[in-house]
Amino acid sequence: MVDKDIRQDGDANQSRHKQRQQKLKQQVDEKIDAAQQEKGLLLVITGNGKGKTTAGFGTVARAVGHGQQCGVAQFIKGTWDNGEKNLLEKLGVEFHVMATGFTWETQDKEADTRAALEVWEQCEAMLSNPSLDVVLLDELTYMVAYGYVELDRVTQALSRRPAEQSVIITGRAAHRTLIDMADTVSEVKNVKHAFESGIKARKGVDW
Ligand code: ATP
Ligand code: MG
Repeated sequence: MVDKDIRQDGDANQSRHKQRQQKLKQQVDEKIDAAQQEKGLLLVITGNGKGKTTAGFGTVARAVGHGQQCGVAQFIKGTWDNGEKNLLEKLGVEFHVMATGFTWETQDKEADTRAALEVWEQCEAMLSNPSLDVVLLDELTYMVAYGYVELDRVTQALSRRPAEQSVIITGRAAHRTLIDMADTVSEVKNVKHAFESGIKARKGVDW
């Protein structure tokens, strides 16, 4: 192939690429124009892969960066040192963490239910507080799955929350009703995890 043919081939590719990009831009612009509704969002981040809580806190960090008010409830990680709490509490984010530190080993359903409900009551307060822009309910899905917090109580508080407030629910095995209620649902898929190769959970990465 001579230089001229290569140049013409290149020009044709460029032009096809430009056409595709223009079409794509037009489709995206149409969608942006069509998205007129403004409201607080309900996000559910579920699935078996790593990244759900991190994504929840990433969103809280994003909101804090815009000067918004945020609240966090954490079901499960009570006894753990918690990097996000260490940072975000200093920036004015309100935290409610399960006092007894629910773990997979606890067999005391009554104590776990009591601990879960104590935090849930704080969640209800956050979900009726119009000065909170973003509320993260980390690992709430388990509380519903185990019956520690009634699903109806959760759906009621979510549907009555201030119209501008966004809520992020994280945790595996999200209840179908929560998925149906949510505006955005992401499922984090496990491809592989270091723990499966015998590598310890790491400060700064895993908590
Ligand atoms: P992270 O807090 O890192 O975003 P996560 O919220 O998606 O993770 P959880 O199910 O809440 O995951 O589990 C929390 C802890 O378990 C973290 O230390 C995380 O690294 C670890 N973990 C998450 N997914 C897996 C997995 N598929 N296998 C083993 N350990 C996992
Ligand atoms: Mg998590």
